[in-house]
Amino acid sequence: MSSKLMNMELLVDTVQQLSLASDLESIMRIVRTVARKITGADGATFVLKDGPYCYYADEDAISPLWKGSRFPLETCISGWSMLNRQPAVIADIYADSRIPADAYRPTFVKSLAMVPIRKMKPIGAIGNYWAEQRMPTEEEVAMLQALADITAVSIENVYVRNTLEERVAERTRELADALEREKDYNELKSTFLSMASHELRTPLSTILSSSWLVTQYTEAHQQEERNKHLGRIDSSVHNLLGILDEFLSADKLEKGKVKTETEETRLEAFLAETAESIEGLLKPGQHLRLNIEKSITIATDRKILHNLLLNLLSNAIKYSEKDVILRAETGADDEIFITVQDQGIGIPEVEQQRIFNKYFRATNSSGIQGVGLGLNIVKHYADLLGGEISFESREGEGTSFTVKLPRSLEERYQSTEQLLRRAV
Ligand code: ADP
Repeated sequence: MSSKLMNMELLVDTVQQLSLASDLESIMRIVRTVARKITGADGATFVLKDGPYCYYADEDAISPLWKGSRFPLETCISGWSMLNRQPAVIADIYADSRIPADAYRPTFVKSLAMVPIRKMKPIGAIGNYWAEQRMPTEEEVAMLQALADITAVSIENVYVRNTLEERVAERTRELADALEREKDYNELKSTFLSMASHELRTPLSTILSSSWLVTQYTEAHQQEERNKHLGRIDSSVHNLLGILDEFLSADKLEKGKVKTETEETRLEAFLAETAESIEGLLKPGQHLRLNIEKSITIATDRKILHNLLLNLLSNAIKYSEKDVILRAETGADDEIFITVQDQGIGIPEVEQQRIFNKYFRATNSSGIQGVGLGLNIVKHYADLLGGEISFESREGEGTSFTVKLPRSLEERYQSTEQLLRRAV
């Protein structure tokens, strides 16, 4: 077989091998050996353009060349080939001014042929080297260039395939996220519907039945009965208003519509007022005990803190029969801790991490009225006050919620603002 035919076969075989290559490493491995075989050269290099440098990425030669080295494009022959987008063919390297002789002296190289990979916009070069002075033939250079051209196509294919795979993976991730959100939303919607139908139905049917009964007690001596049912209607309406308020608060908080207004406050008096406002909810024999450190002042939003504590206190009263404790003290870093502690039903351990989720209600609270929004609101409120909420609970023993607040809400925001100003 003629050498031309053999080389053609080698090229075809290389194309096949390259079509299976899935990364640059395997392309280089295939090309560097074929590059030497195709011309019978004593050495071959695979050079990649790395910004303004030539990077001698790989080689196959009778003795070491420059594998792993980087040279500026302007100072080496592979750089010349890339910058001029054409082959460099040199019979005597020491007679050519484009060759940095010092770099070649330690090597066997006497003559060479260098071709660019992707002529239009070179991404690298393939070099062939001989240990004797000789003029590489036109056919050898043409073969080398053909190899460089198929190498360019293979590199582009790998690049396209990889970016395509990345994009597919990214889109798949986005789709999975969207599906997950949709699932969460649907779950939330159905929980809301079942909760709303149950929680709204109870007070509404009380109103319906009690108002009908009021019309039935027409005799003068039945005033007591009438009052009892009017009382039930009244408390059901309050109950409905409470539920509505919770929905509105949760919605407002979620849309970021709640703004804070800071006011210097004496905590002892403030907590006493809050406690008084909730006393009506206490069950017979149940007390609210206060244990407040003296003379604490706090600069915070009073309305938000009041609502936050109302939520915690009403839960503590609702989920227990015994006394509830409201405690306040200063921490080591001048932060303020307010704790609401009860000795009630507690929260089952496995459910504790979901307790701040919207509409979540623990399994042991089924007989007790509620919509599962209060604690979610409390968490938003704590965030708004620059604080943190935490809790400890044991089923059947009791629960204690603690909110940690900064001494001054303004200060915190001032320092954030300072940070921002510094960053700009
Ligand atoms: P709810 O309207 O159901 O009381 P919350 O958001 O205030 O809603 O509370 C969510 C759930 O957390 C309640 O349904 C209850 O299971 C549990 N929980 C909250 N506070 C207490 C508490 N002090 N003791 C026991 N369980 C509580």
